Amino acid sequence: MSVIAIVGGGIGGIVAAFTLKKAHPKHDVIVIEASPNLGGLLGVSHEIGSLSFDIGTHIPAETMIDELDEWLFGALYENDAWQKITRINGGNYYDGQLDENHHNILSRSTYDDLDDNVKLPEKEVNCVDDYRFRFGKYLTNHVFLPSLEKFIPCEAEKLEPEVQRYFALDRLSQHGGSASPNTRLADSRIHPQGKKIPTAFYTSNGKGVSDWIALLKRQLDQLGVKFLHGKKTVGFEVDNHKIKKLIFDNGSTFICNQVIWSAPIETLLPLVSHQSSEKFSSYYQRTKIKLFHFVFDTPYLTPCHYVNCFDTHVDPYRVTLYENFAGRIDKKKLYRCTVEVIGERAQNPSLNEAEIFRQLVEMRIVSADTKVIGSHETQVLNGFPIKRVGALSNARKLCDEITDTFNNIHLVGSAEPSTFFSNDVMIRTFNSLKTKIEEEKIT
Ligand SMILES: Cc1cc2nc3c(=O)[nH]c(=O)nc-3n(C[C@H](O)[C@H](O)[C@H](O)COP(=O)(O)OP(=O)(O)OC[C@H]3O[C@@H](n4cnc5c(N)ncnc54)[C@H](O)[C@@H]3O)c2cc1C
Repeated sequence: MSVIAIVGGGIGGIVAAFTLKKAHPKHDVIVIEASPNLGGLLGVSHEIGSLSFDIGTHIPAETMIDELDEWLFGALYENDAWQKITRINGGNYYDGQLDENHHNILSRSTYDDLDDNVKLPEKEVNCVDDYRFRFGKYLTNHVFLPSLEKFIPCEAEKLEPEVQRYFALDRLSQHGGSASPNTRLADSRIHPQGKKIPTAFYTSNGKGVSDWIALLKRQLDQLGVKFLHGKKTVGFEVDNHKIKKLIFDNGSTFICNQVIWSAPIETLLPLVSHQSSEKFSSYYQRTKIKLFHFVFDTPYLTPCHYVNCFDTHVDPYRVTLYENFAGRIDKKKLYRCTVEVIGERAQNPSLNEAEIFRQLVEMRIVSADTKVIGSHETQVLNGFPIKRVGALSNARKLCDEITDTFNNIHLVGSAEPSTFFSNDVMIRTFNSLKTKIEEEKIT
């Protein structure tokens, strides 16, 4: 019998525990989590009375992998307390207008300068090159770059192209001008009725995504997975290129045969090499995020599930309207909402709940006579990744060095460069562990 230690109890660690225990029922599979609770960024951000608030728009959705979906969502399909959402109505606020049909930037600008002869530079492509290649100069300069600047305190020329994905800035919607269907721009359109997605789930009981995490924890208990809470891994004891023991922050240790690191890559690097860690942090940081949670007495003015706010005159990055997910607009008298503010604006001391509420009214998301029944302001320190050009190749190199140095560590989910969104974390964790099990790298 082997002892498999999974470091990190976020959704990556949860999926890893399921995958490994299912494949190796006789092995000891233990999830080791630094905080008292499971869920990581999918845990509860705050509670006001019986109402919970998530961090961001964390709506679990099918992975389209049958075995995994059956485990993740099997209990929810027939449960009436869970809404099944097949189309997410994302809206966007740009240029003083709330567009309730698109989650991407609404642009009335023309696309005349788009030139299909533009070639991407061959190496070290940055965010601006990528935008110019796909949308041309005018839209890059007038639409995307001002919006990106709102979220990221760094020149776009210094950023990896993929950074735009974190801010939903990779597409435009509702074209004002005419674009030939042969241009690359044709691919940038999205369906006007909202974003079609695999079925997503949201509970109608006011508890949010943490209710799903609690369900997955019960399912892991049934499989025989064990948990160690409040244990932060701060080092390894190594023998002959193998990690023999994890060392925790209280000085205690844990003997194991295999280590699955599921927490974000930057949590692992300092344990392996201070030099590599410092080098990596010169390429890669995380934005600060401030969350404003509200409970209102009046329904929102918009049916959108969430609104992305690209307009530089308002501070929010995104507004999540939970009751539009929970589907209980007519029954319940309280309406929850979370506003995320990112980057330098999140550090502005004069930005307070009253100002954010004023902006929600300005954006026509709530009416001016709405009463705020409860509110709370909090910070997320490990926010969205800011990756400078070179961050990805550097991270891949460091990951290879770690797996070459220790024969029995496997990096999954957020520990792999370029994985950020929760569905990517679940899918990549499952697929990569399945492959390792098949190849008998985890026995
Ligand atoms: C503000 C915000 C909004 C987001 N919105 C969305 C969204 O709308 N859609 C979407 O798909 N994704 C979104 N994401 C991304 C999403 O949260 C992540 O994809 C997902 O939660 C990552 O899960 P994880 O398990 O990999 O990491 P985490 O959730 O970060 O979990 C890692 C866990 O490891 C633990 N840990 C760390 N170091 C150690 C250690 N040394 N020892 C023991 N335990 C340790 C931590 O305590 C944590 O519980 C958002 C992220 C943020 C920050």
